[in-house]
Parts: sequence; C-alpha cells; structure tokens
Amino acid sequence: MLLTDSGGFQLFSLIRENSAYGEIRESEILFRPDMGKEKLIFTPEKCIQAQFRYMSDIMMCLDVCTSPDDSFEVQRRSVDLTVKWAKRCKEEYETQLRARRIRGQRPLLFGIVQGGQYRDLRLECGKRLEEIGFDGYGFGGWPLDSEGHLREDILQDAADAMPDGKVKYAMGLGRPEEIVKLVKMGYNLFDCVIPTREARHQRLYVFREGMETREGVLRPEGDFFRYHRALDEENARDARPVDENCDCALCRSHSRAYLYHLFKTEDPQALRYSTAHNLRFYERLMELLRGDEA
Ligand SMILES: [Zn+2]
Repeated sequence: MLLTDSGGFQLFSLIRENSAYGEIRESEILFRPDMGKEKLIFTPEKCIQAQFRYMSDIMMCLDVCTSPDDSFEVQRRSVDLTVKWAKRCKEEYETQLRARRIRGQRPLLFGIVQGGQYRDLRLECGKRLEEIGFDGYGFGGWPLDSEGHLREDILQDAADAMPDGKVKYAMGLGRPEEIVKLVKMGYNLFDCVIPTREARHQRLYVFREGMETREGVLRPEGDFFRYHRALDEENARDARPVDENCDCALCRSHSRAYLYHLFKTEDPQALRYSTAHNLRFYERLMELLRGDEA
C-alpha cells in the first residue's frame, strides 16, 4: 500500500520561509528549487499525473496550505483555490483512469480540508469538497501551536467538516497520545515518522502496567505508555523481553540484554527489531482504539 502526498505542504513551507522559493498563483505553484533562475511549475494536473506514475494507492489533491496565524483573507483564498484545484485534480484523476484503462481496483483520491482557524470556512470547504466527491478527506494546514501542542479546536472543526462514513485523515500526525485524541474527534487515518524514527534512536514504546486496555489508553491524561531506552546500562544483563505482553519478533525471542548488545555493536538487526516492535505497538494501540480485542 503506497500513499503519496501532493507536495502542497512542502512547497508552502519553503515559500513561507523565503519568498525567493516561489509563489502560489491562482492556477499553479511556481517553485524555484535553488531560489535562482530555475523554475518548476506545479499544477493540480501534473501533481495527479505524478502520483499515477508512482503507482500510488492513495493520492492527495494539490491544496493551498496556510498557518493558523494567517488572516481571514488568506484563509478565504486558500479555501477557494483548494476547492478549485481539487476539482481539477478530480478531473485529471478521471482522465488518467480512462487513459490507463483502470477498472475495478482503482487508486483512491483524497481532498484536503483547509480553512485555518475559522470554523465556518472549514465547514464550507468540507461541503464544497464533498460535492466534488472524494474517497477520503485530509486535514489541511498547520496543526500545532507555537509550543508544539495540538490545535484541538481546529482539528475538531476540520473533522466535523468531513463527511461521516469516509476516511478522515489527520495528515502528518501520529504520536500515540495524539492518535488517542484524534480518534475521539473522528479521525481514522494517521501518518508519522515517529515510530520508526524513535526505534532507530533506541526508544521502544511499552504500555504502562495496567494501561494495556481500551480504558487504559483512553484515560484523559494520556500517560499510557513509557519508553524502553535500549542502551540504558540496566538493560545490559536483563534477561526479560522488552515487553512481556508483546508478540513481535523481538519480544517473542530475545531479551533486553540481547537488544542492548545489538545496539552496542551497531548491528543493523537492532534497528530492524526495534522498528518491528514499535510498529507492533502501534498496531496494538489501533486494535485497542477500534475495540478489536475482547
Ligand atoms: Zn515487541
């Protein structure tokens, strides 16, 4: 399963940082990768064509991203352009399906809900996107405040703006404690580099004692897991698995001491085992949140 983003967020971030990187125009994004003469033009059509070439299973529309600090006028323009571009993306998507003779199992196309901190704009954007019709809907814009906390008000507005019964995708969010909050808001798809990155940095997720239940993870304080730090000295001679309740390849067969040794000797297996463990932790978290387990 391959999910591809449109690049709208990345272009927005660079251009916001320095306008020499380009400009968001009415019908396209102009990008100067080296802030020099070279120009790249990103259109909704090109963006969809590229995602077909990558053989993506879930594609995102090209949108116009904003920050919650932006004015109403900026958010208004973002919604209007995002909807206009989403329509062009959908048309190009259908053109590609026909040209490539794709029937039956087709890739999915998601629209992105913008509107910044204005609930009315979010709701309007969701409604207009729904009229075009998408397989799922993503949260657009910057989701954190200046201290790195979730802007729960904005995220809730966007979730409310997305039609129920479709996938609601919290783009770029996925720390365990965030997932718990976002599921309550109605989101059901997440993405984040955190589980694999943490694994490579010797940090493995473990449910806290007694928290390995739906009630545990749903506790409002959200303190339902801890980190196992693989290179802590106390692990050097610890024969227990990282998590006695985990059924991943690491926990089933190996001790904390063994993992400590793998990291100490820079054996690449350390990264593989830790990554498998953290991904299994995420699976178990999602199972608990979905209520899969009795
Ligand atoms: Zn494990």
